Amino acid sequence: MSSDIVYLDGAFIAAQDAKVSVFDRGFLFGDSVYEVIPFYRGVAFGLEPHLKRLEHSLAALRIPLSTDLPVVLNELVARNGGGNLSVYLQVTRGDAGRRTPVYDASMQPTVFACCNPIRDIYADGPDGVSGIAVIVTADLRWHRCDIKANGLLPNILVLQQAREAGAAEALMIRDGVMTEGGSSNLFIVKSGVLYTPKLGSEILGGTTRGLVLELAREAGIPYQETDLSYENLLEADEVWISSSTRAVVPVLSVDGKTVGDGEKGPLWRRMFELFSQFHHRLMTGEE
Ligand code: PLP
Repeated sequence: MSSDIVYLDGAFIAAQDAKVSVFDRGFLFGDSVYEVIPFYRGVAFGLEPHLKRLEHSLAALRIPLSTDLPVVLNELVARNGGGNLSVYLQVTRGDAGRRTPVYDASMQPTVFACCNPIRDIYADGPDGVSGIAVIVTADLRWHRCDIKANGLLPNILVLQQAREAGAAEALMIRDGVMTEGGSSNLFIVKSGVLYTPKLGSEILGGTTRGLVLELAREAGIPYQETDLSYENLLEADEVWISSSTRAVVPVLSVDGKTVGDGEKGPLWRRMFELFSQFHHRLMTGEE
């Protein structure tokens, strides 16, 4: 299986032949948005919410796009062997031929997509998922975190900080309120209730976050979307993070302090099971 075919502006080509102009605004200004969409055995997991969020990001930046993305992305995955892959999709405002901050509304966007192999996180059940350590650090991002924009420097810096502290994720806090991870959303469990920061311009509306809440609702698990403090995090029975390629991951320590009893929690196990069933239905077409 190869993951070497990429999509660029209408063509499926070898990665080494894909070239973007140095005057592309994605390169010069980070004037671009993106999505990361998992495919298992060639089947997209949550394509619709990803495309809906992309539409939101594009509308916020006023970038017009006419590409038939479901067709393009399925074709790209098929050309890369149709296995377990995440598709990275980036849309920039395009190539203006010179460097100037203002732009012409008639510009043609640049559309790029490539694949990366991913692990089937459902293959080994809940025991195959490792709990992680996280750190908490200041959220230094702009105030439009609902846009999945490529200006990821604050995220990169905190993720690197986490790695250097021996942690797998950095959770961010702004004005005393927990926001999200450098590349994930945050959940805590306290006394059987699931809590997650509410949607708004301070966090990304994660597609996995949406699925967690949908599955919780269907399963009768009580949940609340609300502000969470650092103390709430430390006093939680369980802490999880969520993202497309990782689903839900149990957090076993925060800033070196053990969460709950230091084991993967029962509600996390229940949610992982609900995700596995959802995944199974998707793969088999069974209701
Ligand atoms: N929050 C941030 C900052 C992210 O970068 C991501 C994913 O990359 C998420 C949340 C989770 O979003 P999703 O569940 O759609 O992958």
